[in-house]
Amino acid sequence: MNDLASATSSASTKLFHGGLRYLEYWEIRLVREALIEREVLLKAMPHISWPMRFILPYHKDMRFDGDTPTSKLLNIVMPWMKGRRPAWLIRFGLFLYDNLGGRKILKGTTSLNLAGTPEGAPLQERFELAYEYSDCWIEDSRLVVLTARDAEGRGARINVRTKVISAEQTEGIWEISLEDTDTGVRRDVSARMLVNAGGPWVEDVIRNTVRINATEGVRLVRGSHIVTRKLYDHDKCYFFQGTDGRIIFTVPYETDFTLIGTTDAEHEDVNQKPVCTPEEQSYLLDFASKYLKTPVTADDIVWTYSGVRPLYDDGAKSATAATRDYVLKVDTSAGAPILSVFGGKITTHRKLAESAMEKIGAFFPDVEQSWTAGVPLPGGNFSVDGVAALTARLSKQYPFLTVAWTNRLIKAYGMDAFNVLADATTKAALGKDFGATLTESEVVWLIQKEFAHTAEDIVWRRSKLGLRMSVEDINALDKWMAQNASHHRSHTQPDLPKRSA
Ligand SMILES: Cc1cc2nc3c(=O)[nH]c(=O)nc-3n(C[C@H](O)[C@H](O)[C@H](O)COP(=O)(O)OP(=O)(O)OC[C@H]3O[C@@H](n4cnc5c(N)ncnc54)[C@H](O)[C@@H]3O)c2cc1C
Repeated sequence: MNDLASATSSASTKLFHGGLRYLEYWEIRLVREALIEREVLLKAMPHISWPMRFILPYHKDMRFDGDTPTSKLLNIVMPWMKGRRPAWLIRFGLFLYDNLGGRKILKGTTSLNLAGTPEGAPLQERFELAYEYSDCWIEDSRLVVLTARDAEGRGARINVRTKVISAEQTEGIWEISLEDTDTGVRRDVSARMLVNAGGPWVEDVIRNTVRINATEGVRLVRGSHIVTRKLYDHDKCYFFQGTDGRIIFTVPYETDFTLIGTTDAEHEDVNQKPVCTPEEQSYLLDFASKYLKTPVTADDIVWTYSGVRPLYDDGAKSATAATRDYVLKVDTSAGAPILSVFGGKITTHRKLAESAMEKIGAFFPDVEQSWTAGVPLPGGNFSVDGVAALTARLSKQYPFLTVAWTNRLIKAYGMDAFNVLADATTKAALGKDFGATLTESEVVWLIQKEFAHTAEDIVWRRSKLGLRMSVEDINALDKWMAQNASHHRSHTQPDLPKRSA
């Protein structure tokens, strides 16, 4: 109803991960599916996702949540551990993590003696041992935008800034009222089936938009992140275990920054915009400072963001324990079917969609089932280890680009970086310079091919250039877009091949 990925899908920790923590809850199906999926997704989007190594420092006094199934079992067989974990158990968890999901591209777990290593340098000296394992990074909001772009090329209509106001069923057909949230203009469409993928609003849509009785509910759990100045020099993440059973990550972010998250807090009102509260900021600063030699302080924070997890309400006591698995429910009580999506992970979005297609296939046997594995997203048609070669090619073809600019374009657009720059031979040929290497050619591409309407869409979702641009730069871009975007949009044509089905 707003921009693409304007809600939860731009506010994640941005990991394609199996979820090492979920092994504590024995969520084996979820972990296994996500682990297998990491490599399928890496191959489909080698520009916007890449492997990352995670350092898990181990200390024998580290405490884990006492309520997990693992804790309960340990309380019976090793009562003296009192919430601690023996090193062999962590190693066993990582052994499962390495082997549950058919790993081919990602490196396996290794043990690391921290003394004298770059990985040990930022940590307090009491941490002598660590385990190093693999997961992946994903540019979450670019994943959403490129998926929409791909779908458009295959015949879908992408209606950004369009809210479903009501949906009523008449003789097996949904009559749906849509509102343009910029202009307030309404129009009606009809459909034989609805898919309610409203994320945090999934229950709100069921109760207040479609108005059907359903027993399922969603649990809104806010998660916040802080972005600080760069805290250490190497390119690996840390996985820190807290005494409250929670974990946080510190992740090298956008070359010059470090990302720290996340919190887990109940969020009462779905229409209340989530923000990282001062308490959440202090919690993350204190948590990281228990591990890092140099404490992180409020002065180090350059940005914060927050999102709401739309978790399926499985009656779990704590937000941390609520399942991260997805649940799909079909309702036909109104006559025509509606499929509602609860929960899920960015990592399992493709598998979730395949499961949804199976459910949809029960009503429409002709719909095509699974086909997306192995199909690249726009710009991603090159090999997983091909980033360096592609970057070198771009820099050779456009010698006026700086190294940082070239890297940014490849990691955002992949093969499409060549189309963004087209036949430019100088920087000036790319038009107006909006600052931080953002030029008019790129902005026009984002308007025409990636559904951008405002400066915020560009600097906080389709890129993170907001971290480098001044408020004046962003305002100037917004003004330029208000004057020019609709002209460029009217020349938009989907440029991807249509599928026959
Ligand atoms: C803090 C945090 C960290 C996370 N970290 C990770 C991670 O590292 N890895 C991972 O795999 N997953 C992670 N997740 C989970 C992941 O981000 C979510 O599962 C996923 O983004 C949910 O996507 P969604 O499409 O269901 O919801 P959303 O992205 O919120 O999309 C729902 C959309 O529905 C639209 N909408 C709602 N009502 C209407 C209406 N009436 N009409 C029209 N449109 C409507 C909204 O505008 C919104 O765009 C994290 C989540 C959080 C909150």
